[in-house]
Amino acid sequence: MTLADAEAFAVAQGWPRFRGEQVWRWVHQHGVRGFDEMSNLPRDVRVDLAERARIGSLEIAEIQTSSDGTRKLRLVTHDGQSIESVLIPDGDKTTQCISSQVGCAVDCQFCATAKLGLKRNLDAGEIVDQVYIARKLLSEVEPDRKLTNLVYMGMGEPLHNYDNMVKSLRILTHDKGAGLGMRRITVSTAGLVPKLEKLGNETDVRPNLAVSLNAPNDEIRDEIMPINRKWNIGKLLAALRAYPLEQRRRITFEYVLLAGVNDSLRDAGQLSKLLRGLKCKVNIIPWNPHPEAPYQRPAPEVIDAFQQECKRLGLPTYLRTPRGDDIDAACGQLANRSNGETVVPLRIRKNKEKPAPPPVD
Ligand code: SAH
Repeated sequence: MTLADAEAFAVAQGWPRFRGEQVWRWVHQHGVRGFDEMSNLPRDVRVDLAERARIGSLEIAEIQTSSDGTRKLRLVTHDGQSIESVLIPDGDKTTQCISSQVGCAVDCQFCATAKLGLKRNLDAGEIVDQVYIARKLLSEVEPDRKLTNLVYMGMGEPLHNYDNMVKSLRILTHDKGAGLGMRRITVSTAGLVPKLEKLGNETDVRPNLAVSLNAPNDEIRDEIMPINRKWNIGKLLAALRAYPLEQRRRITFEYVLLAGVNDSLRDAGQLSKLLRGLKCKVNIIPWNPHPEAPYQRPAPEVIDAFQQECKRLGLPTYLRTPRGDDIDAACGQLANRSNGETVVPLRIRKNKEKPAPPPVD
């Protein structure tokens, strides 16, 4: 529920409108998960609420902790689907990587989530609840740490779940709720051009934008990201050039480095030329291994040479060091795999079904 929904709900119960805001603040600002804890509500209201409403839509099934401090949470929805969400400590910052769908329909050849196929979209409640669960967990296990940044880079393609994604951003950034800063939130997309245009036209929702480019030309991108056959690099970059960027913001391009596929100096040269004139930076992500893909991570010298070549050609290029790769929590490894550190025992679902076709835009 948005704040307005909660107020309407209160009115529909015959309560004053402000009860809606009281309840909403408890849930979104204070993160309570039981109506009993809402101490400024009359007892009969709390009892009614417990009968008619529900707080939170996810439960923690499993928490795995990496040797680098990264935590991967497997969360279960009311209909028994598993999704993953990753908490990444980095100095003073703590970034949470959240999922937008159960599985994914985009079928990028190098990604483990793609192998699950798309099960369903997450609703806005399931998207925001990942944040509240993580916030609560942090307050219990590392009270000095606060969640500072949020990236929509977990399972799923956020722009395939546009309405719920936008609604979740409105809820998470609401000043009567969690009050997260829009500038600390990044939405990452494989490049759904019409939805990028739509996002650019939103006035109140302005997250940072990351785009998974992953290739310097259509030939390579067609092969590793079939979505490129629908919206090729030309169309994608045209949409991004037209995208209304906030002041002093730039687009992040993600570039998964695959040995022998897109990691040559020639590729670096083409990439630099391609992105010339765009306000952007490139994050190189050396490929994170998982069993289902025929790729390899390039050798460290190759990764370094690629980065140096991009920089030499004037492209700001950074290396994203893998976090949580020992527990399959790094980019592209989210596929509900477990190392057995189960907190709440739950059957691990292995999805052998064929991926659903991508939703029509
Ligand atoms: N669907 C969105 C959100 C996922 S972000 C998107 O495509 O942007 C996840 C990022 O990890 C993407 O940039 C993707 O290109 C990258 N990635 C996927 N599989 C990977 C792997 N095995 N190793 C490294 N990066 C990977």
